[in-house]
Amino acid sequence: MTAHSLIIGAGMGGLTTAALLLRAGHQVTVLEAHVYPGGCAGTFFHKGFRFDAGATLAGGFAPGGPHARLADMLELTWPVSPVDPAWVVHLPDGRTVTQWADATRWQAERRAIFPQAESFWRTQETLAAVSWDVSSRPFPWPPQSPADWLTLARALRPQTLRAFPYLWRTIGQIAPTDDPLFRAFLDAQLLISAQTTSRDAHALYGSAALDLPRRGVNHVQGGMGALAETLVAWIRQQGGRVHFRQQVERIVVEKGRATAVITRKGHHFTADHIIANVTPWALHGLLGQAAPHALPQETQQRPPTWGAFTLYLGLDERQLPPDMATHHQVIVDHTRPLGEGNSVFMSLSEPGDTTRAPEGMRAATLSTHTAVTPWQQLRQADSPVAYCERREAYVNRLLAAAERAMPGIRRAIRLSLPGTPVTFAFYTRRPLGMVGGFPQTSLFQARGPATGIPNVWLVGDSIFPGQSTAGVTLGGMRVATAVLQSG
Ligand SMILES: Cc1cc2nc3c(=O)[nH]c(=O)nc-3n(C[C@H](O)[C@H](O)[C@H](O)COP(=O)(O)OP(=O)(O)OC[C@H]3O[C@@H](n4cnc5c(N)ncnc54)[C@H](O)[C@@H]3O)c2cc1C
Repeated sequence: MTAHSLIIGAGMGGLTTAALLLRAGHQVTVLEAHVYPGGCAGTFFHKGFRFDAGATLAGGFAPGGPHARLADMLELTWPVSPVDPAWVVHLPDGRTVTQWADATRWQAERRAIFPQAESFWRTQETLAAVSWDVSSRPFPWPPQSPADWLTLARALRPQTLRAFPYLWRTIGQIAPTDDPLFRAFLDAQLLISAQTTSRDAHALYGSAALDLPRRGVNHVQGGMGALAETLVAWIRQQGGRVHFRQQVERIVVEKGRATAVITRKGHHFTADHIIANVTPWALHGLLGQAAPHALPQETQQRPPTWGAFTLYLGLDERQLPPDMATHHQVIVDHTRPLGEGNSVFMSLSEPGDTTRAPEGMRAATLSTHTAVTPWQQLRQADSPVAYCERREAYVNRLLAAAERAMPGIRRAIRLSLPGTPVTFAFYTRRPLGMVGGFPQTSLFQARGPATGIPNVWLVGDSIFPGQSTAGVTLGGMRVATAVLQSG
């Protein structure tokens, strides 16, 4: 009999797992709470604009990259085209660092701006090469079954040994310390890619993350959400089912195995395997009393992860500097912690892309890391005035940062929509609006997909290798393999 896999959530991790299980012969059903797919990497429509909700940089499409490998397996084509430079970093002293995808241009750029850091960059490139090489093969980390150990052993190569001395080191321990602006530059890159800064970012993970621009960043036709839409179309075309407006409220567990899910509308879907594209906190909520005891422990012990404050802007192109790069990162003050408006990432739709914005306009997404708790406390205290004041203060912080990269941006604004962790919790169903997964500080504390219930798996940015559409695609590949190996 054909096995039936049910996937809770149509984020990139859930859809990747769904597609691979369908390809392997499973009957597949995806239940998505929202009206469109993609979650944090979705694109929403508002008054003529298509705004990227969270993710705006699409990596992993170069040969051997996660999205490229998935496309080969599924025989599909992604609607992407490369962008170079990947993004421009604006330092507090007014200098800019252009993150060229082209290696030669990048070497010249970094030598001109951070001449003292050459030996660090060489180590970083060596470690990144090892990390990318290992991740180009199945690499089920952390191992959770004998089959995983076997696959890991097969993934290692003699050159992998070069990384061993760095297994217990952080980026901070291998980077020069004398230039605070260089540190701020590294910190800002790592915060968006490893959810932590150089002091704590793991040396191997962080090196791979710092290499993202060189691995290629892409423009997605129609916005980031088009990646998820491509997968939904493929799944439906191949006979899988994707249902929107179906929020799962409970996973039914009988005799230690999950048997079904129940949705908010009262629909009951039975399944042999359940793959939850959610965080551990959300999984705990779905399992309720049936949660294995390690899960409540985990959700109580882990500190909240980061949230995001976002600002979606409809901009009049005529008011913007001409020939600007499409992605920018601004570091306002290197003496203060990053996030909370002190480091801001901003992305514009491509010039002339009328699938994203009306003629003569651009759709922009600005974001900064923010702690979720203060936002949720204001919401729970039912103090709308204080909540709105805080939101307004963050809008101003983001615009002040944006002015450094795009002088005149305030004059260009025709539409402005802020998003707080409360907004993210509502639209992505992520408890407290926690996004981006866990900080990548130690390979030995990485979370895997096992849940304690043999036929329930986690997928998405809570499991290694964590955040980004490319990261959750690797996680989805790993989970699909685990489901198939489980019989
Ligand atoms: C502001 C911001 C900027 C980012 N920038 C980038 C970037 O530039 N590049 C990049 O690659 N990554 C970026 N990321 C990270 C990236 O977006 C995420 O790591 C990735 O998209 C997460 O995918 P996921 O599979 O974990 O699922 P999610 O995106 O969390 O999606 C999960 C889906 O499941 C659905 N769902 C949840 N609970 C239920 C339920 N009970 N029933 C039914 N459906 C449910 C949700 O509605 C959602 O659609 C960014 C993230 C944020 C927030």
